[in-house]
Amino acid sequence: MRILILCDMEGVSGIVTWDQVGGGKAGYAEGRALYTAEVNAAVRGAARAGASEIIVIDGHNAGGDWRYNSLLKAELDPACEYVAHHTWTEYRKPLEQGVDACLMVGYHARNNTPDGVLNHTISSAQCRNLWFNDTLVGEVGVNAALCGHYGCPVLLVTGDAAVCREATELLGSGLTTVAVKQGLSKYSARQIAPRRAREMIEAGAYQALQDFDAVAPYKPAAPVTITVEFGHYDTMMRYVPRADTELDQPAQKMYSRADSWLEAWDKIWPW
Ligand SMILES: [Zn+2]
Repeated sequence: MRILILCDMEGVSGIVTWDQVGGGKAGYAEGRALYTAEVNAAVRGAARAGASEIIVIDGHNAGGDWRYNSLLKAELDPACEYVAHHTWTEYRKPLEQGVDACLMVGYHARNNTPDGVLNHTISSAQCRNLWFNDTLVGEVGVNAALCGHYGCPVLLVTGDAAVCREATELLGSGLTTVAVKQGLSKYSARQIAPRRAREMIEAGAYQALQDFDAVAPYKPAAPVTITVEFGHYDTMMRYVPRADTELDQPAQKMYSRADSWLEAWDKIWPW
């Protein structure tokens, strides 16, 4: 059983500020420790469920040399291998080979979700909204579509209550979710104490891997249109033109169309 664990920092219990997820910032060391411990919890759950290969991909951009490189390596559970410092959504080898299921740990809600702790979609400055066809999505949607392209279901999402709700709306009620905090604003939350949150994540990962058919792989209907609404006019101008996309300058929107989601995504990413 080959399992992918995609992880992000903003949805981890104990993390409520940018300072805790920004490379070199005062709170970063604490954030990394909390982050690594939650990832380890998912690794333990997956291993207990029988996973023979567990690949962790760090999906958090903490800036500079910390881009996708925030896990504390010496602390990682020996049952996993991990990918660090590789651009988000770009490491696809396991998916090409065949992954049985994906678990998403530490995720956050899409941009402008009122109760979403540290909510954003890729980058608040660059992206106000993102749609796959007519569906408004956040980063859970992006990663679920990437996995879905290869026929891999997402079986677990952990993070705050807002991202759990968002993920269930997108992927269906068969999804296992673990809410480790309830957002009170973008920068505050009522939280499950980290040690108990880890127990819940381990149990959630184990539980999720009992039924691989609980969630269908997420595939936006083809042909696929990806719409990016930029955060600002100047950021739009910095990231365009992209070949074979359509730009609506007054609306600050870019459209990427293709027969498959992955083709459409690859026309606009990385920015
Ligand atoms: Zn992040």
